[in-house]
Amino acid sequence: MTTPIPATLIPGDGIGPEIVDATLSTLDALKAPFEWDRQIAGLGGVQASGDPLPQATLDSIRRTRLALKGPLETPSGGGYRSSNVRLREEFQLYANLRPARTIIPGGRFDKIDLMVVRENLEGLYIGHEHYVRIDGDPHAVGMATGINTRQGCLRVLEYAFETAIATGRKKVTLVHKANIMKVLTGLFLETGLRLYEEKYKGKFELDTIIVDACAMKLVLNPWQFDMLVTTNLFGDILSDLVAGLVGGLGMAPGANIGADAAIFEAVHGSAPDIAGKGIANPTALLLAAALMLEHVRLPEMATRLRKAIDDTLNIDKVRTGDLGGSAGTAAFTKALVSRIQNG
Ligand code: NAD
Repeated sequence: MTTPIPATLIPGDGIGPEIVDATLSTLDALKAPFEWDRQIAGLGGVQASGDPLPQATLDSIRRTRLALKGPLETPSGGGYRSSNVRLREEFQLYANLRPARTIIPGGRFDKIDLMVVRENLEGLYIGHEHYVRIDGDPHAVGMATGINTRQGCLRVLEYAFETAIATGRKKVTLVHKANIMKVLTGLFLETGLRLYEEKYKGKFELDTIIVDACAMKLVLNPWQFDMLVTTNLFGDILSDLVAGLVGGLGMAPGANIGADAAIFEAVHGSAPDIAGKGIANPTALLLAAALMLEHVRLPEMATRLRKAIDDTLNIDKVRTGDLGGSAGTAAFTKALVSRIQNG
């Protein structure tokens, strides 16, 4: 018997509980050995305890070091700070992994299998911003400070290079803008090149590209890339671009990896417009669960899960409304579970 693996489960807001239920039924069918500790966050946390990230949830993740998370609602403008950003900071989740793979063939971009690794804690994204007042205009100048550190670059690059080897990637491309931002992104580029020379040479091919050229080439010929590794802001933009190549955010999983914990989630939000209607597509969270299985070194189970998802969508042609089908969340999950049980 496999040893139980303690893990925190955050159903989240909106469609969160619906897609989390679908994912749990599927993981049960796979006999995945997770021992769930159910916790709340986001709007659910505010409603239950006045805190979008209650202490009990943080304590649970600190104990299990592993979490599966449904989307959390964040009010735009005022209100509370994003619990997702707080989780990233709290557990130093320095690497964001966003795989993109064509699941339903026949679209504009077929046979895509790409991984984006984004630095998650530094760069121009960290929100150190302020205005400068000139001649009575309090907003005469807007300023932002980006910070990259050698240590921060090194840990995400090392994680990416190790992941490339573990998952059999042939080529890693460092994406930067060191021609203009010579210090901020030059440090990332230089650290990556040096790390490759010292420790990884020959284990995979290393390439470099300027971010604007990368965006163009991703649209013209995405097949030339295998794994992209980049700083926070560029990674934010490119990972959504790459998700667009394979059918949008509904099929995009994400993993946030840190020294102290790893949190797995769907990339999309809480979809309040369809919450409670039983029509949400659970695929992105299911694919996040596959990443989680790989993380706990159950790669065969992850492969079985991905194959069952592919077969349900492409052979059984059971699809939710966002993919042009007519199945609800429950019918899709039932078909998926029966795929798993019947091979
Ligand atoms: P959204 O991703 O929730 O929804 C965008 C559109 O995509 C909607 O029409 C929605 O119905 C559809 N959609 C999303 N996921 C779907 C699914 N699984 N199946 C079928 N259709 C799906 O984006 P939004 O409306 O901008 O954000 C809503 C809330 O989610 C906001 O409060 C936002 O802050 C939050 N959010 C959370 C996360 C997270 O927790 N990781 C990520 C993004 C947004």
